[in-house]
Amino acid sequence: RESLLETIRETIEKKNVELLHMQFVDIEGMLKHVTITADQLDQAVNGQTMFDGSSITGFTPINQSDLYLNPDLSTFAVLPWTEEEGYSEARFLCSVKKPDGSDFDGDPRNILKKTVKRAADKGYSISVGPELEFFLFDTDEFGQPTLRTQDVGGYFEPSPKDDGEKVRLAIYKALRMMGFTIEASHHEVAIGQHEINFKYSDALGSADAATTYKWVVKTVAKQFGLHATFMPKPLGGENGNGMHVNMSLFDIEKQENSFYNEDDKIALSKTAYHFIAGLLDNVKDFVAVTNPLVNSYKRLVPGYEAPCYIAWSASNRSALVRIPATRGAGTRVEIRCPDPSANPYLAFAVVAAAGLDGVENEKECPASVDADIFNMSLAEISERGIENLPTSLESAIDRFEAGSIGRETFGEHAFGEYIELKRGEWDDFRTSVHAWELTAYQSKF
Ligand code: GLN
Ligand code: MG
Ligand code: MG
Ligand code: MG
Repeated sequence: RESLLETIRETIEKKNVELLHMQFVDIEGMLKHVTITADQLDQAVNGQTMFDGSSITGFTPINQSDLYLNPDLSTFAVLPWTEEEGYSEARFLCSVKKPDGSDFDGDPRNILKKTVKRAADKGYSISVGPELEFFLFDTDEFGQPTLRTQDVGGYFEPSPKDDGEKVRLAIYKALRMMGFTIEASHHEVAIGQHEINFKYSDALGSADAATTYKWVVKTVAKQFGLHATFMPKPLGGENGNGMHVNMSLFDIEKQENSFYNEDDKIALSKTAYHFIAGLLDNVKDFVAVTNPLVNSYKRLVPGYEAPCYIAWSASNRSALVRIPATRGAGTRVEIRCPDPSANPYLAFAVVAAAGLDGVENEKECPASVDADIFNMSLAEISERGIENLPTSLESAIDRFEAGSIGRETFGEHAFGEYIELKRGEWDDFRTSVHAWELTAYQSKF
């Protein structure tokens, strides 16, 4: 820690860092920060930055609203877009503490840390590689987002069809300067849709990276007069934005990926099969977290490479859980329902908890479904016993509330706060009259 702090001091000196943004996320994963001057580094590092928890969604501690920020030194990064001659700004991602110095258990970062600890107690470290898709839209004369995109690109299409190439390049450069290892960048299936992939990491590192990525993408897009959105389904009839979560368990003692077994017919270990079983068994109880918006359920419909059936497969992309072809150290499962509007800390926590439940209880993995489920008749789907994911936020919250994954992973405080927030969102939607209803009913009836 001391040597890390020394490096940070040197960078602050060398890059003339004047301001430090102390960042954390609320229960929805929204980034917040308070800005201090670099002179206050020592107090900040000692956890003395205070804020009013009662103004943060999902925090409202019952009897105590003063909370403190505890910066994670490994997340220090200079913000490339602030750099000019003799001046720059930097940030830390922080965990939240109570005045008595103990962890505030409503903080999503603390919640993920608890799940990481639970895995570590079993001898595993959780590896996570998320893939976050986004759209780039034009803004209007007031800088507000429109649904227009100049871009006519499709999957993997280059410029001039891909109008976002130069924006992606700028995002890539910013992320790289902040310490990301970028592996790929490409146009996605829908017009104006993009994806930039960063290297997998441990669960906390990847949740920090996903949070930073969303912020950087939006910030850089804005410099081009564009609006970047991670909303799951902004355009009806087009692919939506997914956040595939690639996950595996690393055996700490043996120092190897515990999902790989070369003797198995598809080279998966027992642990991997139990993990998959845990995901399938618990998914209905956790989609309210991985797919948290009313709009999330408009993406989970047949025909757009997003899953709606609960099945796994070594190949096909209509299944909820796919096993990418890589084996050896890269053996992993890809869960395809999450979308990038999810809070990455909470999403990775519930997905890992679901998989770990399968491993701990040695749950039996059902047979894989390797045919394209989107091409099956409903009769065949039900004959094979393939179930549907929840089709609305309402049914997802009902399951979340009734199930045990949410309560155990979130803890009482955040569990209650999350349900209240999401029920409110659903009620607001339910009691609003939507454009579709007017189009379908106003003239006819
Ligand atoms: N956009 C798709 C989704 O909603 C994924 C497409 C892909 O990455 N192959 O999940
Ligand atoms: Mg991808
Ligand atoms: Mg993709
Ligand atoms: Mg993928």
